[in-house]
Amino acid sequence: MNHSSSDFNALVASLVGSPTDIGSYIGAELVPGSGATLTLIDPATEQTLLQFADTDTTIVDAALRSCQAAQKQWAAYSAQRRGEVLAQLGQLVRRDAEPLARLEAITSGKTIKAARAQVAAVAEIFRYYAGWTDKFHGSVIPVPGGQLNYTLREPLGVVLAITPWNSPLYLAAWNIAPALAMGNAVLLKPSELTPLTALALARLAREAGLPTGTLNVVNGLGKTIGDTAIGNPITKKVVFVGSTQTGRAVNAAAAQRPISCLLELGGKSANIVFDDANLEQACKAAVIAACANTGQNCAAGSRLLVQRAVYDRFVETVGRAVAEYRIGHPLDETADGGPINNRPQFERIQRMIAMGLEEGAQLVTGGVTGDGHESHEPGLYVKPTVLSHVNNTMRIAREEVFGPVVVAIPFDTEAEAIDIANDSEFALAGAVWTRDIARAHRVAAQVNAGLLWINMYRDMHVASPFGGNDSSGYGRSSGAECLYEYTKTKSVWVPIAAGC
Ligand code: NAD
Repeated sequence: MNHSSSDFNALVASLVGSPTDIGSYIGAELVPGSGATLTLIDPATEQTLLQFADTDTTIVDAALRSCQAAQKQWAAYSAQRRGEVLAQLGQLVRRDAEPLARLEAITSGKTIKAARAQVAAVAEIFRYYAGWTDKFHGSVIPVPGGQLNYTLREPLGVVLAITPWNSPLYLAAWNIAPALAMGNAVLLKPSELTPLTALALARLAREAGLPTGTLNVVNGLGKTIGDTAIGNPITKKVVFVGSTQTGRAVNAAAAQRPISCLLELGGKSANIVFDDANLEQACKAAVIAACANTGQNCAAGSRLLVQRAVYDRFVETVGRAVAEYRIGHPLDETADGGPINNRPQFERIQRMIAMGLEEGAQLVTGGVTGDGHESHEPGLYVKPTVLSHVNNTMRIAREEVFGPVVVAIPFDTEAEAIDIANDSEFALAGAVWTRDIARAHRVAAQVNAGLLWINMYRDMHVASPFGGNDSSGYGRSSGAECLYEYTKTKSVWVPIAAGC
């Protein structure tokens, strides 16, 4: 199952460039940093994959200047031509799908199955926005007074996209594609824990025909890059995907300029199961909601709210199904989930499970051992965990774990279910399970969330708006709605009536 270090280096060389040159990507060049040494760990073994140097502020500024120059060229392309280039980028992602998925799986720890699905989604994201380039435009306003008044939708300029480690390539594409479609250039700052597939994407973008510098990548620590990039007047917007804590710091730095942000932050989503639901389907979905990507998923259904009449039976069934969720090596074709991406996150998950048990939760399955891997190999493997008899005041019910840990909370009435669901600082996603269609829509209307599923969990498409409320962030990062995020409106007036 394990890949050799020479296989890995060959994979990096084919998609990115020489492993010794890893750093930022500016124009058409890999630009190694000069700061502290950063080590990429294989989550499946905790062995070193490669090392690279943190970037520095001169590289960040140079990357932004390169973006600024390229953006002028890119925005001067016809809308149709921009669409063709983005469609071609989608095709190139399809061409390199298997090596991209392999690199993503090895470095992020997600399973190869999940990585393949996300790479396919990345191609779809570029196809989708390629279609928007010549369909999103201004309009003519029927003002009184005889003037012609029309609006132009103009690109912002250079957008800074800061992304996390849980789905590196997918989240990069999700946020880059609409910005590019609207004629912006993008400086992408991926997580320092997963920098490689972003570099591969930037190379493909050039090959597809984006002017050199339209998509640059800076690789290094958030503290090295964040304030410099946000404070540089070239940056006109920040899209940030990551933790609520970092999101607050990014928001504060952007407010100093001021420039606008789009924030996609954490979640603690409620998956609400009424006693009249199809419990078999609800159980299958509850497992996926909690465990997909080994719980490293912002929209995870990490609070399972179950009506009291079926609580014991349902939670026990979910526990049995979660126990069968196969955690394995990322390249194991049969694994349902892989390791946790990094040791601090792995240890946080262990601490949070222990904290939940100390608070009085009962262990249904999983728990703190740090060794959920069937063959007891090294690596950051956790046991998917179900905790029952949780109430919503416990910290384990209120804080994001970002691991395969679900807390089961009982409720009696519809009103109580809604109250519990909404008693959270987060408001990203949620689901309701019931055969009562009127109740399903009532609950969907009243739960505070940017995304709500009825009798299903987790389906998403780039055509549909995605985003959260409250501590889960603001703005919508997909669908037609997000195109407003990446354009500014100009209102143009001209007198045309006789005597005007
Ligand atoms: P994080 O906040 O630690 O890091 C995210 C990114 O921010 C990284 O690239 C990091 O280097 C950078 N960063 C760190 N400090 C910075 C600073 N001061 N200025 C600018 N950038 C800085 O998050 P993470 O641990 O990488 O990711 C996990 C979190 O992401 C979870 O909370 C999860 O819910 C959230 N997430 C949200 C979504 C969503 O769409 N809502 C999607 C995926 C992940």
